Amino acid sequence: MPSINDLIKTINQENLQVDKDLVRLAFDFADEAHKGQKRKNGESYINHSLNTAITLAKYHLDQDTIIAGLLHDVPEDTNKTLKDIEKEFGKDVAKLVEGITNLGKLKYRGIERYIENLRKMFIAMASDIRVIFIKFADRLHNLKTLEALEGRKQERIARETLEIYAPIANRLGIWQIKGKLEDLSFKYLYPKEYTSLKQAIDSHFKNREAILSNMCAKVRKELGKEKIRTIEISGRTKDLWSLYQKLQKHNNELHRIHDIIALRVVVPTIADCYKALGIVHNKWRFVPNRFKDYIAQPKPNKYQSLHTTIFFEHGKTIEIQIRTLEMHKDAEYGIAAHWNYDEHGSIQLDKELDWVQDLSKWQQELKDSEQYLDSLKIDVFQDRIFVFTPKGDVIDLPEDSTPIDFAYHIHTEIGDKATGARINNQLATLDRPLRSGDMVEIITEKNRKGPNRDWLRFVKTRAAKDNIKSGTSKGIWDTIREFRSK
Ligand code: MN
Repeated sequence: MPSINDLIKTINQENLQVDKDLVRLAFDFADEAHKGQKRKNGESYINHSLNTAITLAKYHLDQDTIIAGLLHDVPEDTNKTLKDIEKEFGKDVAKLVEGITNLGKLKYRGIERYIENLRKMFIAMASDIRVIFIKFADRLHNLKTLEALEGRKQERIARETLEIYAPIANRLGIWQIKGKLEDLSFKYLYPKEYTSLKQAIDSHFKNREAILSNMCAKVRKELGKEKIRTIEISGRTKDLWSLYQKLQKHNNELHRIHDIIALRVVVPTIADCYKALGIVHNKWRFVPNRFKDYIAQPKPNKYQSLHTTIFFEHGKTIEIQIRTLEMHKDAEYGIAAHWNYDEHGSIQLDKELDWVQDLSKWQQELKDSEQYLDSLKIDVFQDRIFVFTPKGDVIDLPEDSTPIDFAYHIHTEIGDKATGARINNQLATLDRPLRSGDMVEIITEKNRKGPNRDWLRFVKTRAAKDNIKSGTSKGIWDTIREFRSK
């Protein structure tokens, strides 16, 4: 069981700018408030608060968030109020705790509750994204201690995690948390599948640890021969839930999945990344068509690395991921690695996180729950593609988006006046599904009246749908007015 000293140790290890006396004070406050309370598994309650705060420190959250992590269950479960927290630790901490308390009141029951829960999550994110990090840290510890709860509750929490929390973590680029949330839930939701998948990997890669450390040494040695410094190199096994999902797309054939085990190679510069790739390709046979250059073309969530897959023994493959330290940190901490603070010390959302603002706006506009959920499923949780404007800007869209979605994403006017498209310099129809990496140019016609209602049959994004509907209905009124004035 952790103590306050473990939290302080983590803060020191991660080199965080945090007032440790204040953290100790917050711990004492929470400890006193939760005194005598036990969790379902018999541990004292403060253990949960500490675990939450330690996770937050590991993910480099700031002082207010770590303190709010310690206090997050105080107003809900003790005699101390938000006012007390504000008096002791200030407005900012109190606001974070309030955000988490509001989220906590929701239970997952049926579709209405599900959507209500999503809405609250997105409002919380839009007002302060740190609230979501506290919620993730809280949930991680709850999942780790899920054993103590009764079956139906276990299932509810696991399902909610898989359907709501993990996709949001994914969109925020916090893959470590995403993977942990998913695998912990997987175990409770599909225990049989979980166990048999685990066994399958163990027999497919006997001595997995030995293979990985052996390959680490070999790659490090080959790079060293060419004077490339390896800052860090480590092996990982693919997270079980994402492997399970992938297997279902591949007939459950384990040998068709090439990234079950992978090496992460961190080198000093981008030039070193490409050099290292050349060395690896020179030394080992690589799997054709498995090379991906996410440095030149980052994923929509900004992920960067070079990926390639090599054969390391008869028929067995391992993926090699090569990146710089900066890219590595981005991948580890997601948006927490590069968010900005404004002059009041609160976090500003990156431009890339505009979608978070959009989501909280929609929840006010869309009264129909089903409709809201549909929009979310497509615009947020579906796989994303990235395409390019002729100037080389990257545009991030849901899978199967069309030139019309692209056009409305750029500007309403461009969507309204679109008459055709060029994809990779070839003329294309407006309903052609786009693919990642496409360069898209929209041909517009100045005199065009407005959008075509038929486009509704194939567009994917909500922005496009809304604009087409409002554009075409205006068109009808215009026609009526014209008719009357005649
Ligand atoms: Mn909690």
